[in-house]
Amino acid sequence: QKAEWDKLKDEASVSKDGKNFTIAANIGTPDDVAAVNDNGGEAVGLFRSEFLYMDSAELPDEEKQFQAYKKAAEDMHGKQVVVRTMDIGGDKHLDYLPLPEEMNPFLGYRAIRISLKQPDLFRPQLRALLRASAFGNIAIMFPMIGTVDEFKRARAIYDEERQNLINDGVKVADHIDVGMMMEVPAAVLIADKLAKYADFFSIGTNDLIQYTFAADRGNEHVSYLYQPYNPSLLRLIKKVIDSAHAEGKWAGMCGEMAGDQVAVPLLMGMGLDEYSMSATSMLQTRSLMKKLDTKSTADLVDKALDAETNEDVADMVKQFMAGLK
Ligand code: PEP
Ligand code: MG
Repeated sequence: QKAEWDKLKDEASVSKDGKNFTIAANIGTPDDVAAVNDNGGEAVGLFRSEFLYMDSAELPDEEKQFQAYKKAAEDMHGKQVVVRTMDIGGDKHLDYLPLPEEMNPFLGYRAIRISLKQPDLFRPQLRALLRASAFGNIAIMFPMIGTVDEFKRARAIYDEERQNLINDGVKVADHIDVGMMMEVPAAVLIADKLAKYADFFSIGTNDLIQYTFAADRGNEHVSYLYQPYNPSLLRLIKKVIDSAHAEGKWAGMCGEMAGDQVAVPLLMGMGLDEYSMSATSMLQTRSLMKKLDTKSTADLVDKALDAETNEDVADMVKQFMAGLK
């Protein structure tokens, strides 16, 4: 099977009925780009920039970050690299950045909430990204956005730094997509509003499931509530995709679910544009896509959205897949 998947390395990600999708990879450092190219990745859908911070004994300065983003962009040879701004907090800590003691860190001071409060961290990162944009195809996304106001504030700081660099004669790309993660249920419910401001959405199912089911993603006692096929979650995902498309924007997914072979038929049926996963899952997913057509997966989605449980939907998909052979 592996040999069969390897043949797809240089092929497009296209369904049986000729619809194009993008298969992308999640990375943590620029060195991970090699595996993305080796496995036929069409983009980097999530560069978790916090690894730059976590692998360092001190705050990585603008220059150090610039070098990292530039290398990733160059090594992808013009294919898009979506860099997520710092997603510290929750379970991710930095020795050199003391955060407040909190009862509920996953509900606390993390990600964009820190960036908006501490522009001394946020601005150098945005400047590094803007400078790197001259060397490849960089897109930027903000993590943990919950409100229109948060997005607008983050975007305004980005616009300011962009203008500052241009005034200083620094070269930046003419256009950079600026989007957001969809991982907070409140944001999903107003996705139609957010779609007017964000250039794209990327659904972070790891956190979206955690917050939708109110179940800590690392707590084994409640792990049964990790239910990616539950109609409750599917309805949220559908809302994100439909809202993006209504404004002419694209929707991707960068949580674990994007490379889940049971989920992919459902996501295709809902019209998800971009699937970002670990590099080693990409070719298998491309192979699966080739076997599916978007009309029958859309019919499957109609049934799934009307189901009652996670298990019922999983069974539906398995039956559907068995019927293909
Ligand atoms: C997610 O929440 O699904 C996601 C992709 O981000 P992370 O796993 O880094 O929180
Ligand atoms: Mg997340």
